[in-house]
Amino acid sequence: MNLIFSPGDIYDGRDVKKVMVEEIFSCASFKIWRVKGIFQNTYIVGKKRFFVVDPGVPSSAGLIKKFLEDTKLPFESLHTVIATHFHMDHIGGIKTLFSFCDPLVALHTQVRRYINHNEPQQFPPLSGFLKLWPLVPALEWHHMGVRDLSILFMPGSPYRPDKSKNALDFNVDVFLKDGARVPGFNKWQIIHTPGHSFDSLCVYNSEHGILFTGDTILTTYRGEPFANPFHVDESALKKSLERLTRLKVSFLLPGHSIPVKNPNMLRILNAFTHGNFNKFVSD
Ligand SMILES: [Zn+2]
Repeated sequence: MNLIFSPGDIYDGRDVKKVMVEEIFSCASFKIWRVKGIFQNTYIVGKKRFFVVDPGVPSSAGLIKKFLEDTKLPFESLHTVIATHFHMDHIGGIKTLFSFCDPLVALHTQVRRYINHNEPQQFPPLSGFLKLWPLVPALEWHHMGVRDLSILFMPGSPYRPDKSKNALDFNVDVFLKDGARVPGFNKWQIIHTPGHSFDSLCVYNSEHGILFTGDTILTTYRGEPFANPFHVDESALKKSLERLTRLKVSFLLPGHSIPVKNPNMLRILNAFTHGNFNKFVSD
């Protein structure tokens, strides 16, 4: 696979490290920018109208505001916000967005059970989290703002004192089912990919082979994609990966770490199926 960014962009100490919003894709009808968060990615997609994938943490929402100001785009051009799953590091920036714009919020239909029925959310076990060490060098703590700590107590956080209390301080306008389109952007399809969480989804553009994978597939700091070992349902994740393997993917844009070009989807599935996580990472 080819990296969209080389690791050197992050580690060689050049000013690139300070660039927190970078254009990573361009075609006649839209562009994609990656907003580098503390440890998570936010993506802005569009031309005159935009949608955001995973608004991340409050400081990420602040970077989106700055991006719109710097590019002289009206705040209203931010039409839709979508999160790949209901975890604090992916939904934690949504409320901050409403301080300057009023986008549609679209989340997977499973989330309705968390917020309307106060159904507690299941989080993956810590043992899986410890396997995420290949991500550590990609963290960018210097981006962190004090307000970002607030995500620890938000809905979607395993540290929230009462996990059944998921009432949100913003409205969810659209609950997305598998096969739905991003509201207002019908070339972008929702693919329900449970595994990391039950509401996990990917967003896919078949014309260009672009796949936003959220936390279903991540990449190491060197740009090697791998299925997330931090999951709530291993067999569901395997089925999700099998579905993704059938897609043409030219650009894999993960929720954490580095986007890559031309990932070998079958290899990701095989490495996961055979439990070769460590080997896969190191070869
Ligand atoms: Zn995440």
